[in-house]
Amino acid sequence: MSLIYIYLLVILNHMITIIGGGPAGIYASIEAAKRGSKVTLIEKEDKLGGTCTLYGCIPTKSMLYPLKIKDSMEKLGGSSTISTDILQQLARGSIERLSKGIESMLESMDINVVHGKGFLRSGKVNVNNETIDSDTVIITTGTDRKREEGIIYSEDLHDIDLSFKSVGIIGGDVGGLESAWMLKELGKEVYLIDKSPYLLNYLDNDMKSSVTNFFKKIGVKVLLNTEVKEITKSGDSFSLLLSDGSSLGLERILKSFGRYPATEGIDLPKDRYIKVDEYLRTGVNNVYAAGDVIGTHTAHSAIHAGKIAGSNATGSKIQFNREAIPHVVYTKPEIAYTGIMEGHCVKLQAVTNGREIIQRETQGFLKLCSSNDMLISAEAFMEGAEDVISMASLMIRMHLTLSQLMDFIPPHPSAFELLKDGIELLASRK
Ligand SMILES: Cc1cc2nc3c(=O)[nH]c(=O)nc-3n(C[C@H](O)[C@H](O)[C@H](O)COP(=O)(O)OP(=O)(O)OC[C@H]3O[C@@H](n4cnc5c(N)ncnc54)[C@H](O)[C@@H]3O)c2cc1C
Repeated sequence: MSLIYIYLLVILNHMITIIGGGPAGIYASIEAAKRGSKVTLIEKEDKLGGTCTLYGCIPTKSMLYPLKIKDSMEKLGGSSTISTDILQQLARGSIERLSKGIESMLESMDINVVHGKGFLRSGKVNVNNETIDSDTVIITTGTDRKREEGIIYSEDLHDIDLSFKSVGIIGGDVGGLESAWMLKELGKEVYLIDKSPYLLNYLDNDMKSSVTNFFKKIGVKVLLNTEVKEITKSGDSFSLLLSDGSSLGLERILKSFGRYPATEGIDLPKDRYIKVDEYLRTGVNNVYAAGDVIGTHTAHSAIHAGKIAGSNATGSKIQFNREAIPHVVYTKPEIAYTGIMEGHCVKLQAVTNGREIIQRETQGFLKLCSSNDMLISAEAFMEGAEDVISMASLMIRMHLTLSQLMDFIPPHPSAFELLKDGIELLASRK
């Protein structure tokens, strides 16, 4: 965008209102403010940061990170301990620091933050019974959930009493797996229940069968093809009636699924999510939407969409490209994937990689697929999967050919060498 356009936005006092102060809304606000618009950000909670900062990515990873170090120490023949109290303090500390940091960053950019529930009706924004003058609106209201009495959720783990001994986790999805790994590491008896035949059932056979076997191997009681028909609470414990007619007594029940797009009071065309085109326009004049409310599912994708919405709302025309976005499950080993696993595929075992041997993490694998001389997808269940798959995602999104990727020089000893080995294999077989 030219400097003249930014100058015009400033002198015309272009006003943008953004509803929802999670990752998408924060980055949309920053982008629009950088480009000269007067921004108002509406958030219904007292703190900024959204699901990711206040309940999701940040607290869960703050608790998982030390437990992963502990697991590494044990694999390397040493030992370490950390109390649940410290884990929860770390999580609460991270939330506080990030949320405060966001607040001061927005303040420094002169972004006006209004706390209250925002409504959008006939293209007009209302909050705390006042209409907010806006030339352009961006909806970034994310997801919400209906809470059931007595049930705990993945987003609660930093803030509840963790002294229970047994837990039934319903849902073998990302949140279910991260919670199961964490609680198993904390010494709980963990049941992981899913109606599908595998954990992470939407992934390819190699991944879903390896992950399912791994969770069984570490002692999580994995109940598949199983539906929970009824949950009854008696005193301090729960009884689950399962689809095979058996019942299970547990101290806590954690539901990992059930979040839905937060669109109450937001009058826009939607199916499950708010409908947008590739430029994140909603179909209502000058109203854009970004983040989980349009189905991005991850914070990094919500951030990217937020930046694009903030940019397009101030004169750009950038497409939101959903191709090969990386997904990571922060268990140990990590699970990560990007793209659709089809075409010509090769699988490499972690045991052949020096770095994995150094870390005593040799049970995993990396799988890559190519089509038309290009890498199109990758999945890894191994230590460092997040890094390797992020790199693969970039390679895919840049549409580099296998011959071009042959120029990639991975550091040694690193997990990236496995990525290079796979690219060489794909290139030699094309
Ligand atoms: C337990 C858990 C762990 C997760 N871990 C990860 C992870 O490790 N990595 C990752 O990438 N993703 C993770 N996620 C997903 C991630 O949290 C979301 O993808 C991300 O938060 C989406 O950002 P968003 O801005 O679209 O929406 P949200 O973060 O949901 O933010 C929406 C904001 O809008 C506000 N709001 C809603 N309606 C209104 C209204 N009408 N008026 C005013 N304000 C409103 C909400 O209060 C909220 O602050 C996790 C999620 C959970 C639940």
